[in-house]
This record gives sequence, C-alpha cells and structure tokens, in this order.
Amino acid sequence: MKFLSYEVDGKARIALQDGEVLLGSSPSDETATSDLLDLIRQGPAALTAAAEALRRGGNRLVRGDLKLLPPLRPGKIICVGLNYADHARESNMAIPETPTLFGRFPSSVIADGAPIRIPKVSRALDFEGELVAVIGRRGRYIPKETALDHVAGYSIFNDGSIRDYQLRTPQWTIGKNFDDSGPFGPVFVTADALPAGASGLAIETRLNGEVMQKSSTDQLIFDVKSLVSVISEAMALEPGDLIVTGTPAGVGAARTPKVFMKAGDVCEVEIEGIGILRNPVADDE
Ligand code: MG
Repeated sequence: MKFLSYEVDGKARIALQDGEVLLGSSPSDETATSDLLDLIRQGPAALTAAAEALRRGGNRLVRGDLKLLPPLRPGKIICVGLNYADHARESNMAIPETPTLFGRFPSSVIADGAPIRIPKVSRALDFEGELVAVIGRRGRYIPKETALDHVAGYSIFNDGSIRDYQLRTPQWTIGKNFDDSGPFGPVFVTADALPAGASGLAIETRLNGEVMQKSSTDQLIFDVKSLVSVISEAMALEPGDLIVTGTPAGVGAARTPKVFMKAGDVCEVEIEGIGILRNPVADDE
C-alpha cells in the first residue's frame, strides 16, 4: 500500500495511491483519518483498514491539484553517512566499520514539489538520493533478527547538503540541517509491498533529467536491519522515527568540476517500487 499526505485548508489529510488512481476522503468527512503517523502507530491492520475504506468510499484526486505534505511528521531523523562503498571512496573517506550516524532536525524537511532553498550564505548545495526506513513499532536493544518487525515502511529522502558548512568541522550537523534542504516523500510504502529490508531496489538521482547517481539498495554497507539494531543500542526507536540510509556515488561535490544545484534546477530521486521525489531548486527569499 502507498499513502501520501496532503493539506486542505491548513489541515492534513491522507490519500491512497492505488495503481494510477489516487483516492482521498471527502473534506466534509470529519471521521476520516487524517494522520498517517497515527495509523502507523496503530500497526499494519489499521493501515490496511484505512486503505480499504479509501478504496470503498474515497474520492478520486488529481495529484497535480494537491498541496503535498511530507508523508508523516518525523520524530527523530537518524542519517547514515558513507553507507555505500563507492560514495565513501569518492569522498576520500575510509569504508566505515561501524555506521557513521548524524542527526537531522524535522525543521529541515520539506515535501515533494516544495523548493529546495539555496541559502544566502553558500552556493554549495548538493543532492543525496536515499532510501528511508520508517519505524512503526517502539523498541530498544532490538536484535538484528527481529529488527524488520519494527519497520512500518519506506520512503525516499534527498539529504540535501551544504557542503562547505558540512566539511568546515569534523561534525557534519550544520551542513545537513539548513532549512528547506531535506525533501521527504512523496509516498510512504508499507513494508509488505517491498522486498525484505527494501533490499535490491534500483535507486537513481537525476538533476535536470541527467542521471547523477545510479545504484541499488543491495549495495548498502549496513542494511536496514543492521541499522535498526545498532541505533537501538543507544536510543529507543519510536513510531515515526526515520532512518535515512545513505547515498551512493555521484554526488555533486565529488565531481570534476563540482556540480552544485542552482535556482531553476529540478532534482529527482527515484527508488524502484516507491516512486519519484521531485523538487525544484530556488534561491532563498
Ligand atoms: Mg546522506
């Protein structure tokens, strides 16, 4: 099942993407579920029931008419650096023996279609197409063997990075947390609709239609179950937490000459079986 979230009169609503058809509840239906995170928290049966209700009584929507929101309001956003060997090599970094983790704040996240903003203080805005695992069930000290039971589903993230800020200090946090730098979406896909751990899916990033990154999620050094297990050694994972699993080779900063995004560009991240996350790029106002 694929769900997306959109906004009507300042209120969140959810829709089901059923093949090519998009089904949403009537805006006058006050009982309709409007919060995907609530459904995720309730578990797979609640997601199935919501999908069935939308298939039965949903209104057909036109995607282009909707103001999309990120699929859900994220809790903790835990990002993984250097999790594809070819990207670690192009970054002149060692292949990590333990996951390289950093945090992102929800304030940096934007929806599909919203502009990625070039800040007034830097031109070094880079793209990073990534698979996201969405946690559905709370857990601490989660063994690898049962780790995927805690993953409700998957989506796409563009881990937009302000490279000069990122690399000025050993801590990457500031360069990974600029406002309007983290597109997330467009859809949330339930885990049962994808291979275990969302492994083996083609992942591609395109800038103005040109392929910049092309890989497969089976190239992750630390796969989804390993990441869930390792992160939960330190902190309880909660429904709505995101694990942004890392990017393959081809980022703009590793190219000669370097390619940074500029106003008017369009960046797309596509993952097989999930969809395409598409965002324009604009100067900050
Ligand atoms: Mg990244």
